[in-house]
Amino acid sequence: MTTAVPSLAAAEALDQQDPLASRRALFDLPADVIYLDGNSLGALPKDVAARTATVVSTEWGQSLIRGWNTHDWIGMPARVGDKIGQLIGAAPGTVVCADSTSVNLFKVLAAALALRPDRRDIISQRDNFPTDLYMAQGLISLTGGDRRLRLLDDANVIPALSEDTAVLMLTEVDYRTGAKLDMVAITQAAHDVGALVIWDLAHSAGAFPVDLTRAGADFAVGCGYKYLNGGPGAPAFLYVAPAHQDDFAQPLSGWMGHASPFTFEPDYRPAVGIDRYLCGTPSVLAMSALDVGVDIALEADMGAIRAKSIALCDFFITAVEQLAPGHGLQLVSPRDGTLRGSQVSFAHSDGYPVMQALIARGVIGDFRAPNILRFGFTPLYVRFTDTWRAAETLADILATRAWDDPAFHARKSVT
Ligand SMILES: *Cc1c(COP(=O)(O)O)cnc(C)c1O
Repeated sequence: MTTAVPSLAAAEALDQQDPLASRRALFDLPADVIYLDGNSLGALPKDVAARTATVVSTEWGQSLIRGWNTHDWIGMPARVGDKIGQLIGAAPGTVVCADSTSVNLFKVLAAALALRPDRRDIISQRDNFPTDLYMAQGLISLTGGDRRLRLLDDANVIPALSEDTAVLMLTEVDYRTGAKLDMVAITQAAHDVGALVIWDLAHSAGAFPVDLTRAGADFAVGCGYKYLNGGPGAPAFLYVAPAHQDDFAQPLSGWMGHASPFTFEPDYRPAVGIDRYLCGTPSVLAMSALDVGVDIALEADMGAIRAKSIALCDFFITAVEQLAPGHGLQLVSPRDGTLRGSQVSFAHSDGYPVMQALIARGVIGDFRAPNILRFGFTPLYVRFTDTWRAAETLADILATRAWDDPAFHARKSVT
């Protein structure tokens, strides 16, 4: 797919050639909305309604407690985890679906630190998504000792690695700028000094091909409600490389991670393998919805998703720069598509009201403090024509200053 000079006609032609065009019909999208926020909350797959209705009425309603066996609810974290594993280059038995990304990060960070007891530093990005940093801070204050969290700019991460580095904890795609790191090279550099690496795949899983095995990653976590389209608050996932699985029992030692939960022993004995990374009872309803989204991602060719994602983002950047020159927008995402995730961000001094004005016209992106307009492109359901219309609407709002209305300046609690 090549990017033509942006115009509505060019967008229509690109939609016609799009090998993923039929995927959009798998989603329920409001007719009057251009949805460019699938990086924050993925769209609703149509089959979720029927699937969750069946799980509620037939499985829960009729099977009751028997459902844990007859519908193998108990096997869901491993089953859905293995499916997600196929999207991120992880072998069967290395991924479980459970809890939230924040909680999973706590588990794998605790494990990674325990495997490097004599090293002091956790290195992460200053611009990492804050929950990752907060979880690290909480774990450090709980465990005491002299561990410290060092926060650096992306460019300074590799030079800072040393024999003091216990864990390098990075998010592959920057949630503000969309900049994508070189997972293979960075993992190698960390291993060269004997450090372990945790990758946060919140903006990677389902967005483009990931190969944790090839990169030699030690641990990973990621999100179910973004590009996996699992629904608000969907369960998250975690990955542990086979070599580390039985080296340490993570500290959230709930019964689902026990070697034999139903013998009800008073003492914790961790399960062998990835199951020890489970904690409590899985959320069957929520995981059923996520399973539908994961199946859609599995059916699509990840190479085609990546190609379309780059083309959509390139098209949007060129269209915005062509239609809205001199209106104070500054591209903060990498211009080179291979260095980007599946989003485009522009800085604008009035970013918040500009985004509110866009949303009022049905173009839904989001705003990230201090001044970033963020547009996510999910190739499964975003069209080139949507991309063109979003650029036109943005240009019009800037040219007419439609954003400069008191209604658009009032901050909502979720931005
Ligand atoms: C979205 C996101 C999270 C979300 O964590 P939750 O526990 O699901 O709230 C974590 N890390 C990153 C990098 C994210 O982008």
